[in-house]
Amino acid sequence: MPSTILVVEDEPAIQELVAVNLTFAGHKALRAASVDQANTLIRAELPDLILLDWMLPGSSGVQFARKLRSDERTRDIPIIMLTARSNESDKIEGLEAGADDYITKPFSPKELIARIKAVLRRRAPQLTDDLVELGNLKLDPATHRLNGINAEGKLINLEIGPTEFRLLHFFMTHPERVYSRAQLLDQVWGDHVFLEERTVDVHIRRLRHALTPSGHEYLVETVRGSGYRFSINASKAVATVD
Ligand code: CA
Repeated sequence: MPSTILVVEDEPAIQELVAVNLTFAGHKALRAASVDQANTLIRAELPDLILLDWMLPGSSGVQFARKLRSDERTRDIPIIMLTARSNESDKIEGLEAGADDYITKPFSPKELIARIKAVLRRRAPQLTDDLVELGNLKLDPATHRLNGINAEGKLINLEIGPTEFRLLHFFMTHPERVYSRAQLLDQVWGDHVFLEERTVDVHIRRLRHALTPSGHEYLVETVRGSGYRFSINASKAVATVD
C-alpha cells in the first residue's frame, strides 16, 4: 500500500533524489529542509514514516528523533536516520534516540526503498500488503476483500471500498481498543486538522453497511462519549447501528 513519507533533509539535491525515488516507488513524499518545516508538516498530516537527516540547521536529527519519541501523537512513527557518519558510536546514538534504522550516505535508491519496506513491515504492518487475520476473518490488502465464516457458518467474501478498507484494516490491526474520532483521523486519514470529525462517522456508517451482508456490522462498536472500537468479542445485542 502507498505510504506517506516525510523527508527531512537540508541538502536540496539529496532531498530531491530521495523524494523522486519515493514517488517512483508509489509513496507520497512530503519534504522539509529543517525541523521547523517538519513540525509544520506533521501538525497538518501524520506521516507513516520519517526519513531524517542527522545534520540539520538549528537542531540535529537526533534531537528531533528524541522529541518525536516523547510526544504521544508522534511516538509510533517509524524513523530512518540518513547520515554521512558511519562510525559505530554515532549509529548507537541514533538508535538510542529512537531511530528504527540507519542509512549511511551515499546510499542507493534501491537500498533506501528496501529499508523503508522492511521498517514498515516491522513497525507498521497495517501499511504492507500482508494478509490480516483476526478471529475467523481474513482481510486481503491486495484485493480489498474480506473473507471468512460468519456466525451462521456461512462463507463470506465481501469487497470493501477504499476508505472503508483503510478503516477496517486499521481496526483489524488494532482491535479491542477505543479510538477517538481525532485519533482515527490522524491514524487512518493522516489528517486531523483539515478534516471534520463527522467524516469518521460517515465512514463508520459505510463500513457497517459493507459488513452487513455477512452479519459482522456489530463488530464496529460505538463507545459513547469516546469513539469507536473494533471488537471480535462484541455482542450482537448491544451494538449501536445507525
Ligand atoms: Ca544535512
